[in-house]
Amino acid sequence: MPVKPEIAACFDELKSMRQHLHSCPEIGLETVRTVAFVKEQLDRYGIGYEDIGVNSLLAKVEGRGPGKTVAFRADMDALETTEETGLPYQSATKGRMHACGHDGHTATMLAFARYLADHRDLDGTVLLLFQSGEEGFGGALEVVKDGLFDKYRIDCMFGMHNWPGYAENQIVVHHGTAMASEDRFDLVIRGRSGHASVPHACVEPFAAVADFIKGAQSVIARRISAHDKAVISITQVHGGSAYNIIPDEVVVRGNVRTTCAAVQDRIEESLGQLAAGLEAIYGVTATFAYHRKHPPLVNSMPELAVAAATRVVGRENVLTEELPAMGSEDYAFFMQNTKGCFVWIGNGVDSPVIHNSKYDFNDQVILTGASLFAELLEEVMK
Ligand SMILES: [Zn+2]
Ligand SMILES: [Zn+2]
Repeated sequence: MPVKPEIAACFDELKSMRQHLHSCPEIGLETVRTVAFVKEQLDRYGIGYEDIGVNSLLAKVEGRGPGKTVAFRADMDALETTEETGLPYQSATKGRMHACGHDGHTATMLAFARYLADHRDLDGTVLLLFQSGEEGFGGALEVVKDGLFDKYRIDCMFGMHNWPGYAENQIVVHHGTAMASEDRFDLVIRGRSGHASVPHACVEPFAAVADFIKGAQSVIARRISAHDKAVISITQVHGGSAYNIIPDEVVVRGNVRTTCAAVQDRIEESLGQLAAGLEAIYGVTATFAYHRKHPPLVNSMPELAVAAATRVVGRENVLTEELPAMGSEDYAFFMQNTKGCFVWIGNGVDSPVIHNSKYDFNDQVILTGASLFAELLEEVMK
């Protein structure tokens, strides 16, 4: 059974909505025009909504009687990069681009909203969350802080991301972790500056920096189980201003990804110990700060998602053995508050990767995604 015919029948309109959204990308929590556009469509469909978080929107479809509350989420924000696709609908703003396909996710949710408007014969409530600020701006947390899970007893929640490298008719469902956590750290090493010719008269910070960078690599090799997945990347080193001056201070920054919360704890502890040890060895002051940005995204209802996806694309096109991505997703915060699943839908085998200036969302995914949401809902309401 392929995509829902009622959804496929609106393809031209859905495609033009997606391409319109693509041409006017908005960044972070500033999704004002996008929200206005979504509201306009929801008004046309006769679906009510409320503002939530920061420039996010919660649409609500109530069925004929009481029942489960099922939520779906689409992200809406774009990226600060300049588009190079040359498409007729390419971004009208230099330095802003829908390079992650959130224009398509928004259109997919609108397609599902339109479908629901004609299918209100269900017991329960469907919530459609149009979310701002996924690309590192804390949009999901703002929605949680604004009381999404206090106002509504949400039984389960579903989301999707388009995924280059898979065919349009392939859906990936992970059992357990689908996306990694993301943490960031800052290490400030303070010594005492002086002339480069007399390092013994200074407190030289760079040797400590070198030790930290090497030591961070051995945290993965020696403190983390070979069965766990983790990445530590040093991404910035700042310090020094002249050939002949030993500087006072060097700053090191980095990024940590894991697929398991216990590994996150272990890495935070290990890097902190490594930093503290530098003080005794080198006589520097080492100030270490570890910031948790996103938890791992853990799917708790994969079987249900496989059943729903099978009805849209056939079991042979539902992939369940794929490795989790080491990228992160703020949808993970929702999975800390309710059950659910976050799936990937192929954006085409030859599609440029997300966040690339030549990337474009594949409009066929609107049909697959909205049909999948409809099947997920049916599966939950069974
Ligand atoms: Zn992205
Ligand atoms: Zn994205």
